Amino acid sequence: MAEALVLQKEKNRYRLNVFEALGAGAFFTTRPLDMAFENPDRRRALDAAGIDTGNLVCPSQVHGDRVLVVGRQHRGAGVTGRRTAIQDTDALVTDTKGIALSVLTADCLPVFMLDTEKKVIAMVHAGWRGLHHRIVSRAMAVMTEVFGSRPQDVIAAFGPAIGPCCYRVGEEFVSNFPAAVVRRGGDIFMDLALCARMELESCGVPEEGILESRICTSCRSEEFYSYRRLGAASGRQMSVLRLNTCAAKNRGL
Ligand SMILES: [Zn+2]
Repeated sequence: MAEALVLQKEKNRYRLNVFEALGAGAFFTTRPLDMAFENPDRRRALDAAGIDTGNLVCPSQVHGDRVLVVGRQHRGAGVTGRRTAIQDTDALVTDTKGIALSVLTADCLPVFMLDTEKKVIAMVHAGWRGLHHRIVSRAMAVMTEVFGSRPQDVIAAFGPAIGPCCYRVGEEFVSNFPAAVVRRGGDIFMDLALCARMELESCGVPEEGILESRICTSCRSEEFYSYRRLGAASGRQMSVLRLNTCAAKNRGL
């Protein structure tokens, strides 16, 4: 059995301690903060989560397969709303220190990736559609093609997502994800984390380098937004990953 992720509860967020020692800051936010672009108080929510908006990069996600390499010119994208966000993108990659990559989720799986040798990071939004497009493998491929990352040097962590306890799906998932569905009581349930894990392992990321939060957004909907449980008006949590500069580390992000 692979290790679970050790999380540190802080005000309005959980920190992923494993990244800290490796020179990166990583966390995901909790309710009641709503990071959805549609939230008129979003700017206040970003501040309340302690997010450095001057270095934040937000994509407008479409459950697609586009991965963007982010640089300094993208800093601040999406801070003021969806219109200024990186368009039609579900995974961000960078090797620039200080840039905070983010994704929004409310049941989909946020995947944090760090090449511990070359110091390259990726933040991936992986729902079933993205997984079907192999978005996690695409992010790994971009890390390799652009920065020379080796999968065996990568650690990956999964934030909160709807779990196989709650994610009831249709029969068509059996043919699309034969190894990532479970049958229970006549129903079919999808395991997003297992699907992402298998994809990472197929890329060559070591089993022990993949850490799971095992937080189900639906089971813990008092603490996390769940689209399935709360409906279309559900808010969003934000997952954030960045390579620390010395100054950033001192400021504690
Ligand atoms: Zn659950």
